[in-house]
Amino acid sequence: MQFKTILNRVQKFKSFVYGKARWIGSGDSLELVIDVEPRANSKPICSGCNLPGPGYDTLETRLFEFVPIWNIPVFFAFAMRRVDCKRCGVTVETVPWAEGKHTLTKTYMHFLANWAKKLSWKETAASFRTTWEKVFHSVQWAVDWGLAHRELSNVDSIGVDEVLWQRGHKYLTVVYQLDTECKRLLWVGKDRTIKTLLRFFKMFGKERSEQLLFVCSDMWKPYLKVIAKKAGQAIHVLDRFHIAMHLNRAIDKVRAEETRELKAKGLNPVLKHSRWCLLKRPENLTENQEFKLRDLLDCNLKTIRSYLLKEDFQFFWDYAMPYWAGFFLDRWCKRTMLSKIEPMKKVARMLRSHRELLLNWFRARGTISSGVMEGFNNRLKLTTRKSYGFKTFRAAEVALYHTLGKLPEPEWTHKFC
Ligand SMILES: [Zn+2]
Repeated sequence: MQFKTILNRVQKFKSFVYGKARWIGSGDSLELVIDVEPRANSKPICSGCNLPGPGYDTLETRLFEFVPIWNIPVFFAFAMRRVDCKRCGVTVETVPWAEGKHTLTKTYMHFLANWAKKLSWKETAASFRTTWEKVFHSVQWAVDWGLAHRELSNVDSIGVDEVLWQRGHKYLTVVYQLDTECKRLLWVGKDRTIKTLLRFFKMFGKERSEQLLFVCSDMWKPYLKVIAKKAGQAIHVLDRFHIAMHLNRAIDKVRAEETRELKAKGLNPVLKHSRWCLLKRPENLTENQEFKLRDLLDCNLKTIRSYLLKEDFQFFWDYAMPYWAGFFLDRWCKRTMLSKIEPMKKVARMLRSHRELLLNWFRARGTISSGVMEGFNNRLKLTTRKSYGFKTFRAAEVALYHTLGKLPEPEWTHKFC
């Protein structure tokens, strides 16, 4: 069987035919090059207007990398023609296997991009004897195609969140779609400022933003401002996951301060190794942790009182009616304000000033699940942490869209992977 028979089976072109195949090099540097020629009497297609036109001249032969066979690199060799286009002037022709100045064929980019979903970019490059850069360009191409072809008209609910990335205090703003039928990453932006989130709404479009039903977010002020301005009609929900996070942070702080105070007084360090007893839900404690917790509860420490306040707050989420949830919230805040524990009072003040948004959680009940956001954030951290060799925001952005964006793919007659 000839090589071109196989190629015609998996990748056939209307206006081009495969010519001779030849070996180049030997040993480890062995490569396979296949000539591609225009079909007789076919006219080149102008890359400006996508219409056929008369030929102008022919450029030097270019190599386009195709999917390797048995780990031998495969190239198409083709001399691009220039078109004497009536509309666009003299342009280079467009060919069905490649785009623009890419030296990789679309099929090969799709192949690498698909593997890059399963392996890290470095591993992908090593597996197919190519470079990290080529894998990056392939994923970038797949992501650009996906973003240009994705459907955004079915978005009712979104979640906005901030995530730390790289070392130091660098943030990304992420926007997820949180609908029951479709959960995906919609957008990533650098920083967590007003400007950052405004860029999302610009991409998303005015009309779509004004039709959003639910927006879920943290209490980060810049986000609250932008959401109120751009999607004021949507029910804005402050989600459970973030509030639990604020409470846990407050307890951590109280505990650290109190441990220091006790140490200074030379008192028995009862709080040592207690962190997990206080942060875990009671039903998840091990037996030892349960004993420890019982000991702790016997002392009237600030840490313990904070812990009890946090545990008590869990009841808030069990209410069915916003009215009674509100009643509970007010009482909880009042009690916390009287506790004289500053980090907890801070949380209470914050919850008080966002009372309406908190109660929206009950109004949106069942339509927004904050567990989804938490799950996404974990996967996001995994992606940025995995050794992709991200040095730039662009690389991280591309990787996140690729793994979490549920982007559509072009249709292929033959699946190479
Ligand atoms: Zn043209």
